[in-house]
Amino acid sequence: MCPMQMNREDFPILGREVYGRPLVYLDNAATTQKPRCVVEAISEEYYNVNANVHRGVHFLSQQATELHEASRETVRSFINARSTSEIIFTRGTTESINLLAFSFGEAFCHEGDEIIVTEMEHHSNIVPWQMLCQRRGMKLRVVPMLDDYTLDLATYRSLLNERTRLVCVTHVSNVLGTVNPVREIIAEAHAHDIPVLVDGAQSAPHIAVDVQQLDCDFFAFSGHKIYGPTGVGVLYGRERLLDQLPPYQGGGEMIRNVSFERTTYNDLPYRFEAGTPDYVGTHALAVALDYVTALGMDHIHAYESQLASYAYEQLSQIENLVIYGGGNSSLSGGMAGSAISFNIRGIHHLDLGTLLDRLGIAVRTGHHCAEPLMRRLGIEGTVRASFALYNTRDEVDALVAGIQRVVRMF
Ligand code: PMP
Repeated sequence: MCPMQMNREDFPILGREVYGRPLVYLDNAATTQKPRCVVEAISEEYYNVNANVHRGVHFLSQQATELHEASRETVRSFINARSTSEIIFTRGTTESINLLAFSFGEAFCHEGDEIIVTEMEHHSNIVPWQMLCQRRGMKLRVVPMLDDYTLDLATYRSLLNERTRLVCVTHVSNVLGTVNPVREIIAEAHAHDIPVLVDGAQSAPHIAVDVQQLDCDFFAFSGHKIYGPTGVGVLYGRERLLDQLPPYQGGGEMIRNVSFERTTYNDLPYRFEAGTPDYVGTHALAVALDYVTALGMDHIHAYESQLASYAYEQLSQIENLVIYGGGNSSLSGGMAGSAISFNIRGIHHLDLGTLLDRLGIAVRTGHHCAEPLMRRLGIEGTVRASFALYNTRDEVDALVAGIQRVVRMF
């Protein structure tokens, strides 16, 4: 048995049935299931430690603060940031990007400036930038996708100019599984002194991320997609840039002194963390990161890539099934093992997803919060199977058998 499969035992929910059938959970790009250690860390903290963090003189407050700040160090180490000052806790990728769009916009953006996004972004990495453009009278420039599901890097290069303020790109597409060549994209932008935000929502759970090696300026990810709790995420920012950004929200924690005449702000990273943080969530996120680190991100990546290749091969053999994405071909930059999107000609994605559900197979259907990408593909939506470290070849076989059964019904 593959070492990763032994870890299924750590995820109690995987043992349950739906409609009297064993659950086959293939909706991991939307959210992952949680290992026992993460769930237990949450109840343990509420049972035994709970107190508000920072500035508390009493024992519990100090203990909760220690856990919360130790979690920041765990995140720092997980993505190899230089300092914990660069790790801002948020509610998730969406809030991380909204925070950046507001604060970066305040600091650096003016009428006529441009922000670059790509055609394969999640709405979370489009709409906050669109809102900034509307506020400031700026332009959103879009890097198109080529027919092989990779980004058109020649057009990207031609879009970089003296008005470009920021490049925003997803590391891994949540629809296609395409791994974008972010190092190259970052290097090109830096040659023009333009910073880059990487949306790591779909990469952090599958690929070892090193923000120093990537040389990205900002990196966002969500706890719930990496076996951690909902409601917690991270924005990494290069200290030199974060230092120049004004706060996103006002309130407790983010200040140094307040008077009605003038308020001074706290140091990094607290300046961006107004209000009581989800300190139980940050601790549980750290437990999740320790869990995947102990398994080894490289092992997880290797295992998931093999599984996704197997799924790709098996699905490709189904008649009338169209896969959107390049699979493991070198053209696509390789697949991170996160997602395969497909349709069956003549069957609506919603019908296929609903019938698979009745067989106990959880997949996602629809536009996957990437409507511009759907428009580019000329479709309304897809069925998406997305994998995690606990998925097995048997589950891929169940998916394939399920699809074949639905096809026969039609
Ligand atoms: N970006 C990408 C690429 C995603 O896949 C997602 C989640 N589907 C998000 C951003 C938003 O993440 P969240 O909803 O956790 O904020």
